[in-house]
Amino acid sequence: MKNAWIALLCLLSGLSAAPSLWAETRTIGGVSLRGDFIQGGMVVGQVPDQARVRYGGRQLTLTEQGEFVLGFGRDEPLEHSLQVTLADGRQQTLAFSIEKREYNLQRVEGVPARTVNPDPSHLKRIQEEAGQVKQARDTESDLHGFLQQFTWPVQGPISGVYGSQRFYNGEPRRPHYGVDIAVPQGTEILAPADGVVTLAHEDMFFSGGTMVIDHGHGISTSYLHMSKLLVTPGTAVTQGQVIGLVGATGRATGPHLCWRLNWYQERLDPQLLIPES
Ligand SMILES: [Zn+2]
Repeated sequence: MKNAWIALLCLLSGLSAAPSLWAETRTIGGVSLRGDFIQGGMVVGQVPDQARVRYGGRQLTLTEQGEFVLGFGRDEPLEHSLQVTLADGRQQTLAFSIEKREYNLQRVEGVPARTVNPDPSHLKRIQEEAGQVKQARDTESDLHGFLQQFTWPVQGPISGVYGSQRFYNGEPRRPHYGVDIAVPQGTEILAPADGVVTLAHEDMFFSGGTMVIDHGHGISTSYLHMSKLLVTPGTAVTQGQVIGLVGATGRATGPHLCWRLNWYQERLDPQLLIPES
């Protein structure tokens, strides 16, 4: 039934999913999980006192209240399990499944040619920059911003959604992993939750002015194509604080914010975090 409704909504809206419909709470084996059980979704869980949790080959960081977070990539398998070790040493494997998602095609024309087919002389720079972003997203911290209700960094028309297969000037390239919000050059970008800035780069090859904010336990958000960066690495930011200004730097055809969400290197859909208005 749910699938039928989603299919209908997709037809009506042209989007790949209708966000908040996926948010749910599940309790399995004494572990509560809430969030979006769908490719691209983020789920926050809580285990009883002094338990430990493994997921996807990783020992998850827990808050003092036993909360943890995990996320599902764009093409994530649908069957998963958590390995929970209780305080008395008993181990449980808790299986759960997530929903498959359909993605659309998006054609982007008028992109600067040098950013569609980079000159080989730029490859070293491109790799170095990718390494910096990867390192920022691998940050391990016990910040708790990921537990907050996230808010939009800017508000405006959505011009690109998570997961779409992209063609730049007619040539197939990697899928789009963020949500694009078309707002004027210079619009203030607000931190969507508390965190610490882990990367602030004035001019990356593809993404131009780029920032990464760590929200704890592997959850980070990224901001691309910025015209101005107003906070530096190491700075603690609070929800609603201005972190920079919208621009059209890097591989962009006009001013917009490309907003991204990660659980470590997994690319999640930030739009799922915002309740439908
Ligand atoms: Zn984008």
